[in-house]
Amino acid sequence: MTGTFNTIIQLIYLAAASCFVLGLHLMNTPATARRGNQVSTAGMVAAIAATFALVIHDNLISVTGWIVLLAGGLIGAGIGLYMARSVKMTAMPQLVSVFNAVGGGAAALVAVSDYMSAGSHIAAATSITTLLDVIIGSVTFSGSVIAAGKLQGLITSAPVSFPGARVVNVLLAAVAVGVGIYIIVSPSMIGLIVVIIAALVFGISMVMPIGGADMPVVISLLNAFTGTAVAMAGFVINNTGLIIAGALVGASGGILTKLMADAMNRSIGNIMLGGFGSGDTAAAVVGAEGASVQSIAADDAAIQLAYASKVIIVPGYGLAAAQAQHEVAALADLLESRGVDVSYAIHPVAGRMPGHMNVLLAEANVPYPLLKEMDEVNPEFARTDVALVIGANDVTNPAARRPGTAISGMPILDVDAAKSVIVIKRSMGHGYAGIDNELYTNPKTSMFFADAKKGLAQLAASVKTLVG
Ligand code: NDP
Repeated sequence: MTGTFNTIIQLIYLAAASCFVLGLHLMNTPATARRGNQVSTAGMVAAIAATFALVIHDNLISVTGWIVLLAGGLIGAGIGLYMARSVKMTAMPQLVSVFNAVGGGAAALVAVSDYMSAGSHIAAATSITTLLDVIIGSVTFSGSVIAAGKLQGLITSAPVSFPGARVVNVLLAAVAVGVGIYIIVSPSMIGLIVVIIAALVFGISMVMPIGGADMPVVISLLNAFTGTAVAMAGFVINNTGLIIAGALVGASGGILTKLMADAMNRSIGNIMLGGFGSGDTAAAVVGAEGASVQSIAADDAAIQLAYASKVIIVPGYGLAAAQAQHEVAALADLLESRGVDVSYAIHPVAGRMPGHMNVLLAEANVPYPLLKEMDEVNPEFARTDVALVIGANDVTNPAARRPGTAISGMPILDVDAAKSVIVIKRSMGHGYAGIDNELYTNPKTSMFFADAKKGLAQLAASVKTLVG
């Protein structure tokens, strides 16, 4: 009977794992992404139900344990549901960071609890997976809390570092791993506490020096860590569902991190030991000082757009903040109806989360083939009459092409190669990296100072009245 029961539970875990894999696959394109989410959710519900059945069948939890479990589950699910439903799209990275922190912290606590309850069997509880769970989970927890604080503006988003920071990071990693290996041989609670403290401090010192435009890579890396810690927790409590779910998050997060790091021209090793995105921001400011800025009125901008044969729209965070996706789609439709060739240039870290611009433009039903990735679109700027930059800043900043700035080395969209550039934003304010944009003082560039939503509506109205 027990054998049959266990087989059924394992089969449910297998079915849940299949749902996760299928769900990830469906998330490949915006058209099927929603279904992918639903399939994955169904898998997760099945896995949770199977775990409950297992716990009840094997009578693993006391009455107090049930009260704690149910109260924690209900409160946690309630908060999670509220946050997920009420979060603004532009605040998504903070939410992902908080979820990473909670996931990593919970995974670490699973191992700590297992260790503490082992009593005289402590040697048996001290395995490599327990230690990896504690180390990776603790690094993820503290690193994600700092990342969320930076993204929310509670902690300065500028790089915070000190001479010798890299050496300190290497030492902290060596203490966590060294003491970890020692307590596998000779188990001790104090040793475990030292490992946890070293890992927590490493998490903080890994994320504090990261600034400029490099946060997206770190969030994605911490997400991969969360998955790995959860998979290790699965080994600790011998739960196949947890191992598979964690491994999938770890692997997909790892792939995303690699893709984003490549897109940003950064190395993952550099991220972990700290210190990039920490160039001398003053250099960029000096470069732009004294140069004059040319502003343009809606009517003049509309005429340029209406009589262009090729326009590339460059969306950025400001488009998302203004929720102007429908207005930009309407303007593009209007221009296309006049025979203008319109496409969109998508930078991998434009906005505040991976794929932000794709999701935003999909909401306004912008046809997917019109969205062009950076490598594909960059050669096209030289043949473009007008590059229309809407609320994008860092991803267009030529300061990235020379050393000594906070975004040095980051590949950018080559908008300055277009014959003319129109930038819609509200002021000369900085982007996320906090540095001046040399594009704005380029003689080819005209600034149309407006909120993206209002400015785009004005442009469309002007195109209609001026050129019919
Ligand atoms: P930026 O953050 O560089 O700049 C956005 C610009 O939008 C600002 O300069 C602001 O100027 C303007 N803006 C804000 N609100 C409005 C509005 N209502 N209407 C018009 N303009 C507005 O954006 P980018 O997309 O160019 O770059 C993204 C940055 O965010 C990169 O540095 C990236 O590394 C970072 N990042 C990206 C993440 C991701 O996963 N994609 C995650 C975390 C960070 P003004 O105030 O003058 O209007």
